[in-house]
Amino acid sequence: MSRHKNFILALDQGTTSTRAILFDAQGRPVRSHSLPLRQIYPANGWVEHDPREIWQAALACANAVLKGRDAGEVAAIGITNQRETSLVWDARTGAPLYNAIVWQDRRGAGRCAALKKRGLEAGITRKTGLLLDPYFSATKLEWLLKNVKGLKGRDIRFGTIDSWLIWNLTHGQVHATDVTNASRTMLWNLKTRDWDAALLKLFGVPRAILPDVRESRGDFGETDPMLLGAAIPILGVAGDQQAASFGQACFAPGDVKSTYGTGCFALVNTGKTVPRSRNRLLATALAQKQYAIEGSIFVAGAVVQWLRDELGILATAPESESLAKRAKPAPGLYVVPAFTGLGAPYWNPQARGAILGLTRDIGRPEIVRAALDAVCYQTRDLLEAMRRDMAAAGLSRLRALKVDGGMVANDWFCQRLADLTGLPVDRPVVTETTALGAAYLAGLGAGLFRSERDIAARWALDRRFVPAMKRGQRDLLYEGWLSAVTQVQ
Ligand code: ADP
Repeated sequence: MSRHKNFILALDQGTTSTRAILFDAQGRPVRSHSLPLRQIYPANGWVEHDPREIWQAALACANAVLKGRDAGEVAAIGITNQRETSLVWDARTGAPLYNAIVWQDRRGAGRCAALKKRGLEAGITRKTGLLLDPYFSATKLEWLLKNVKGLKGRDIRFGTIDSWLIWNLTHGQVHATDVTNASRTMLWNLKTRDWDAALLKLFGVPRAILPDVRESRGDFGETDPMLLGAAIPILGVAGDQQAASFGQACFAPGDVKSTYGTGCFALVNTGKTVPRSRNRLLATALAQKQYAIEGSIFVAGAVVQWLRDELGILATAPESESLAKRAKPAPGLYVVPAFTGLGAPYWNPQARGAILGLTRDIGRPEIVRAALDAVCYQTRDLLEAMRRDMAAAGLSRLRALKVDGGMVANDWFCQRLADLTGLPVDRPVVTETTALGAAYLAGLGAGLFRSERDIAARWALDRRFVPAMKRGQRDLLYEGWLSAVTQVQ
């Protein structure tokens, strides 16, 4: 490695935007650029993205952060991406053959219900760690193979967004994905760490169209020098939540992170053995041959958006902090933001939201606090399920919760999260953990970081929020939440 290769370029391709962040050799962000991504809604419950727009945006963002610099100074590229989103393209021309079908897209719901009826869910979960849901790639790819015209006899390739970017960055030289993305397709077996022949048959997927699966910290080829001004090796790839887990230095079993954006995703590291959730959470692959149990909440920051945009009781999201602080005690008041049903561990798509326990003296501050509380209670729901899964597997206990995402700028929320979950809540200095995780993976590959220990030492705490509420009070409030949830189902 020549001495002046002191930067890492992270590409973060998300659901609503595409970003590039240039990190220095200390893992500090020095420059970033982002572009919004157009959402395409062709039918009720369908969500698509234009693959060409994604690639052009990734390239434009990368060039924007490299502007005025020598691309030769970049030691490596790391890629992180929205997971499960699926597309197919022509192997010869590289042309996408249909839009990318986004993770939120529900068009596979009927197919999943039919497979469930045949009693196939338990077997699929045992192999893939996932629940039979259209969220994952398998039924999206099956739909593409059945419905896109002209695929017969054509040399095609399938990929999630990481594979699509790698293919384009390497000018079609490399067709690969990483284990974390593969583990979200519902076609990849967590135990054998390979595509599963029986699942490929079930969904009618020819093995030849699938990408080669590599470790997240691995060799994914070099960029075509025409694109960024130099041939830069791609040395790290991970799906967004697994990248965030790596960026939060969750390297030991029991390390848990929770990301509070529009929704919330919590992942707990379970070490090197494949976990099995008995509480309707997911099992998934992490980088470095580790695994995690994952739980997601559909509505986290989205409840704050709802208070602002639909109810109009907040002018801005940050105003939720000063209002919640002013709230009077309101025993029995609960907001259940089940706008689109309930996610883990309830998995009830029919549930709808409610405000329970209203009295004449309840005003804006109390409603706002109850809405933020709901995010905390739902986190506790996930943590309780994780605790049970960890205990059943004889794994270590949860010690603290590392948090990131837009909502954690709210100090009151972080303190309340500690109070209502009973776990210390650790907020890092760099909350851009997704891009940071991709940069760390690539930086490890390039030798800029020596080891996980080296990375863990760089993880810097901004603030720890210590639970201050008495246990009896916390449990009493949580019982009220559980009863409120029962009432909306
Ligand atoms: P995403 O990546 O899902 O778009 P972000 O991580 O950017 O989301 O977080 C944005 C979310 O965080 C929004 O839903 C917003 O309502 C919420 N949010 C932002 N700032 C605050 C705040 N100070 N208090 C509470 N919620 C906030």
